[in-house]
Amino acid sequence: MVLDAFNLEGKVVLITGCNTGLGQGMALGLAQAGCDIIGVNRTDPADTQSKVEALGHRFCSLQADLTHPEVVTRVVEQAVAACGKIDILINNAGIIRHDDALNFSEQDWDDVMNVNSKSLFFLSQQVARQFIAQGHGGKIINIASMLSFQGGIRVPSYTASKSAVMGLTRLMANEWARHNINVNAIAPGYMATNNTEQLRNDESRREEILARIPAGRWGIPDDMMGPVVFLASAASDYVHGYTLAVDGGWLAR
Ligand code: NAP
Repeated sequence: MVLDAFNLEGKVVLITGCNTGLGQGMALGLAQAGCDIIGVNRTDPADTQSKVEALGHRFCSLQADLTHPEVVTRVVEQAVAACGKIDILINNAGIIRHDDALNFSEQDWDDVMNVNSKSLFFLSQQVARQFIAQGHGGKIINIASMLSFQGGIRVPSYTASKSAVMGLTRLMANEWARHNINVNAIAPGYMATNNTEQLRNDESRREEILARIPAGRWGIPDDMMGPVVFLASAASDYVHGYTLAVDGGWLAR
């Protein structure tokens, strides 16, 4: 029956940046669907850990700073040592820096590109090698953005990095679909998390954005649960290289 295809009982998820925000929402959605969770964080994900455990699933915490892409090999080794396998990778960790393009610093370029694009690619590469060694495919879900589709203002490295996420999602799907690896992305719209705090504190920008969202509200972490479970499950086995907007209709305007 089709609903059985959404069941993730016994699956192991590796997710980056799940101590807060959308990552926490997705970790909890995946745990509700049956997954054990391996969380990769800079800071202690105690709140997510206790919520996952309350759902009756394992939570394994790995500490890593994804500003340094070379950490990814160790992360995958530790994940496999802890849980024996990986079935699903969620590349969620991401940062944003704001400044005029005329003033934008090389540091703000490199930091954002390293976390949002470079670590995402090399972690996907390591996990895809693991999927191939395990012999039965897997699921990779990258977190893109409206700025994978649009230019944005005063966030040059964020726009570059998230445009790269959508392109890399397609490239990795093209190369790895034959190994039964599905690579897709979710592009959240304007969601109320730490990432958008600066934007939401600017009253005129906040109201301007809200007025343009057909759904009439900012998104919340729970809005990610259904889409991520779909893309992590057998229900999406023939979906490859697609970036699904979860945006309250923003891109439809
Ligand atoms: P958030 O609350 O700021 O979450 C970002 C997560 O990434 C946090 O867990 C953060 O950990 C982690 N992270 C940042 N730098 C890291 C590093 N160097 N190493 C390891 N982890 C790191 O914001 P969010 O909105 O939930 O963001 C999640 C993803 O959604 C990001 O990729 C973001 O770009 C994307 N997104 C968000 C929106 C939105 O409207 N909120 C829209 C489109 C896309 P720390 O707590 O330790 O910093």
